[in-house]
Amino acid sequence: MAIAYIALGSNLNTPVEQLNTALQTMANLPHTTLLAQSSFYQSKPLGPQDQPDYVNAVACLETTLAPLELLDALQKIENEQGRVRLRRWGERTLDLDILLYDNLVMQSERLTIPHYDMHNREFVIVPLFEIAPDLALPNGQKISDQYEKFKKHQMNVCN
Ligand code: ATP
Ligand code: MG
Ligand code: MG
Repeated sequence: MAIAYIALGSNLNTPVEQLNTALQTMANLPHTTLLAQSSFYQSKPLGPQDQPDYVNAVACLETTLAPLELLDALQKIENEQGRVRLRRWGERTLDLDILLYDNLVMQSERLTIPHYDMHNREFVIVPLFEIAPDLALPNGQKISDQYEKFKKHQMNVCN
C-alpha cells in the first residue's frame, strides 16, 4: 500500500462538479481508498490569463496501484471528463497531477514525482497542508514550512 497525494484542478464546465465527479471516480478505483479530500479553493490561472478562474483541491489516496498505473488511471479520468489539450496551462475540464507517492523520487518521460512545481503553487500547498499538516517531502522539507509562504493567501473556499 502506498499513500499518494493528487492535485485536482478545473476551470471549465462547472468546475465544482468536475472535481466531485473525479473524487468519486478515484474513490472507486481498484485497490484504492480515498482517505482525505481538501476544501475546494478558487484560484487565478497559471499561464494564460484569458481563461476562467480555477477550482483546486488535493486528495489523499491509499492505493496498491504502481505509480505509472496510477498515472494511467488518472489520465483515463481526465479523458472521460472531456480533457482536451489546446495550449500549455490552458483551460481544462480536469487536471489530475500526482504530487507525492510515499517517499518515492522518480523522473521518467511520463512521470516526475514529486511534482516538479508543487512548491511554487499556493493552490497546491494550501490544500495539501489542510489535509496533511504534518507531512514531510522526500527531501525532508516540511509542508508546514512551505505553507508559511502562502498562509496569507486570498483564495476563497467554494464548497
Ligand atoms: P503542470 O504539470 O505544469 O501542472 P499540466 O498539469 O497542465 O501542467 P498536463 O498536460 O496535465 O500538464 O500533463 C503533461 C504531462 O505531464 C502528462 O502527459 C504526464 O505524462 C506528465 N507528468 C509528469 N509528471 C507528472 C505528474 N507527477 N503527474 C501528472 N502528470 C505528470
Ligand atoms: Mg497540472
Ligand atoms: Mg496535469
